[in-house]
Amino acid sequence: MATALITGASQGIGACIAERLAKDGYDIAINHFPSEGDKANAEKVAETCRSFGVKAELFAANVADYAQCEEMVKAVKASFGSIDALVNNAGITKDGLLLRMSEAQYDAVIAVNQKSVFNMIKLVGAVMLRQKHGSIVSLASVAGLYGNPGQMNYSASKAAIVGMTKTAAKELGSRGITVNAVAPGFIKTPMTDALTDEQRDKMLGLVAMGRYGDPAEIAGVVSFLCSADASYVTGQTIEISGGLMM
Ligand code: NAP
Repeated sequence: MATALITGASQGIGACIAERLAKDGYDIAINHFPSEGDKANAEKVAETCRSFGVKAELFAANVADYAQCEEMVKAVKASFGSIDALVNNAGITKDGLLLRMSEAQYDAVIAVNQKSVFNMIKLVGAVMLRQKHGSIVSLASVAGLYGNPGQMNYSASKAAIVGMTKTAAKELGSRGITVNAVAPGFIKTPMTDALTDEQRDKMLGLVAMGRYGDPAEIAGVVSFLCSADASYVTGQTIEISGGLMM
């Protein structure tokens, strides 16, 4: 049985991806931030995954911390035997206009959204190199492709993922490992629930389809990128935004 490891999978898009990959037949390693609330949410996600007849286990780790990622990858490998798909989903926002953004706000977002991707691709990439196969998908964002006022930190972290994806694809491609990213637009999750009505109306006015995306619409593309149908797709960032910029 193939195994998928999804970071930040206790809620939102990550939870939906975990459930979709379970439906696809993967055993699921659910990473969650080490807190009691996240653990309780992650356990619910694991139960849903198990309802598809696959194995699902929780792995607590702050993915911004290399040592914690190393322990987690060892534990996943020991429990599941292989890691066939990695989804780098964990992410945070700490928004503020540039002149008001603190160094701490900048550094925190880069650590969680960007350095975690280095940590996880390096560690899981080593496992996949030995296996001579694997699929890696990271969550970028339209903010990284086009910029977004108030998100200097977030857009920097997500633009970096586009470049990291291409570099890893070039380094790992000859061993049968694909590395791609998806760049969601405005998706209905706790992250976008935090927007004001005014911000929401302004944003949806820019979307050709005139609505939020659903986490399942991100999970479907991630599922494709992890599947054999995408075996010759690598180094790509696929925008999933309902036609935000054309
Ligand atoms: P979300 O609901 O806030 O979920 C993010 C998850 O990541 C949470 O469970 C969070 O745990 C976890 N996480 C945060 N920091 C972590 C860390 N250091 N270690 C481990 N887990 C951590 O966000 P979402 O909307 O589902 O977003 C998922 C991904 O899609 C993110 O990378 C986001 O940037 C990207 N994205 C989202 C949208 C959108 O419209 N929603 C658009 C573009 C891109 P806590 O709850 O404890 O923080």
